[in-house]
Amino acid sequence: MNKENSKTDKEWQEKLTSEQYVVCRKKETERPFSGKYYECNDKGVYKCVCCGTELFSSDTKFNSGTGWPSFWKPLKNDNIKYETDTSYGMLRTEVMCNKCGAHLGHLFDDGPAPTNLRFCINSISLDLDKKDD
Ligand code: FE
Repeated sequence: MNKENSKTDKEWQEKLTSEQYVVCRKKETERPFSGKYYECNDKGVYKCVCCGTELFSSDTKFNSGTGWPSFWKPLKNDNIKYETDTSYGMLRTEVMCNKCGAHLGHLFDDGPAPTNLRFCINSISLDLDKKDD
């Protein structure tokens, strides 16, 4: 078990804002069109707000119209973990940070080419590391 993974619930509560904590550690979903990244077109790498792991590139971000930042593939497959989520009477694939287990969002199969995937991610789970170009 690595250091990030071994944080206790109390430690996460202390490290994160209450809004970050309920989404990232308690798997809640931010309200659509409320987050800071759904309309963001800045270039850079979206990192896990909990542990800094690189999750998504702005190059694979697209406007899904859902009100959540959406990506058609992860930056590195190894940095993402998937779980089956049966909450709310739905069968969904939960997307998590593979390093710290943060809840990021869900994966759907109605995304654009070339993958046809849609990673529907909470803004609040992400931290954009902007790159100038
Ligand atoms: Fe993380």
